[in-house]
Amino acid sequence: MTDIFINYGTNLQKMTYELMEAANIAGRLNTTMKIGIKPNLVVSRPADGGATTHPEIVEGIIRYLQAYGINNITILEGSWVGDSTQLAFKNCGYTALAEKYGVKLHDTKKDKAVQVKSKGTSLNVCESALNMDYLINVPVLKGHCQTGMTCCMKNLKGCIPDSEKRRFHTMGLDKPIALLNTVLRPDLHIVDSVCGDLSFEEGGNPIVANRIMLGFDPLLLDSFGAQLMGFKPDEIEYIRIGKAYGIGKYADADTKELELGTENRPKTGVSHSNTVKKLSKFIEADSACSACYAALVYALDRAGGIRGESIKIGQGYRGKKCAGIGVGNCTKGCQTYVMGCPPKASDIVDFIKNNQNNILKD
Ligand code: SF4
Repeated sequence: MTDIFINYGTNLQKMTYELMEAANIAGRLNTTMKIGIKPNLVVSRPADGGATTHPEIVEGIIRYLQAYGINNITILEGSWVGDSTQLAFKNCGYTALAEKYGVKLHDTKKDKAVQVKSKGTSLNVCESALNMDYLINVPVLKGHCQTGMTCCMKNLKGCIPDSEKRRFHTMGLDKPIALLNTVLRPDLHIVDSVCGDLSFEEGGNPIVANRIMLGFDPLLLDSFGAQLMGFKPDEIEYIRIGKAYGIGKYADADTKELELGTENRPKTGVSHSNTVKKLSKFIEADSACSACYAALVYALDRAGGIRGESIKIGQGYRGKKCAGIGVGNCTKGCQTYVMGCPPKASDIVDFIKNNQNNILKD
């Protein structure tokens, strides 16, 4: 059975539809169900900044559901403390989307809180999220200044009241996030890994990967996402605690991935982010796929850059012999290279560490 469905490309609506079709999501639903879609609209900034969920992905979900006669659909979210969800709905394209398809928008900040208990701790969760028949979590895979990264598990913070969000911070964030995931269990996760931010939940340094992922286990997807960003799953505290709580399993060598659209993998474009530009000076790219390039940028950021010659990457190196270091199977003609198509950033980080005498900056 497939654990993670992955699609690459730039037509996000079509990619999402294809993923849901490949995973036969309609086979799990019926037309009377109340469906909730939970994007990440933490701030009211458009998705190309790297903070929020692309509305085209949610549009793909809605079109898929409506094609199967499922019309009771609500998009629900509560932006972070101090930001207006209504403004986020408008500025991120969700108000227009809701009007176009006749779906409801729901601000969870206005919700009634329901007290639930997990492992001896009481948590307040928004009623609307608990009352859905089928909840679809649509997070952004991106960096986070406190937890290192955020994806499926942390995205559920939009389903708790503002007072509870504040309390989560006083509780250290990691443990309450893991606890929340024991009581609120979305049925499906569709991860926006199109251009998540390098290190900050508010965006500003988007890293273009042009990827969407679908799965059912939030811990598996988060641990997989951690590796795509250059972390070991255990390095992310809420994932480590979540594993101990039995939320799911880690992505490992046995994880079954089904990749769609590999032949259409877009090439990386020019980034307007200064951080990415700085890291790009360590890279010698020739027709690199964006997912491959993104992995190398994440790895270089985690390593703090390198010294010596730059790292080669891209399809332009296919079948060529060249000196130095390469990243990705296309560069197997290099003296030494990191395997994968695309490789995980965590493997590139390991490679840099293992060769640190030659590669790492003093
Ligand atoms: S190894 Fe080559 S084909 Fe594979 S993702 Fe990287 S650049 Fe693209």
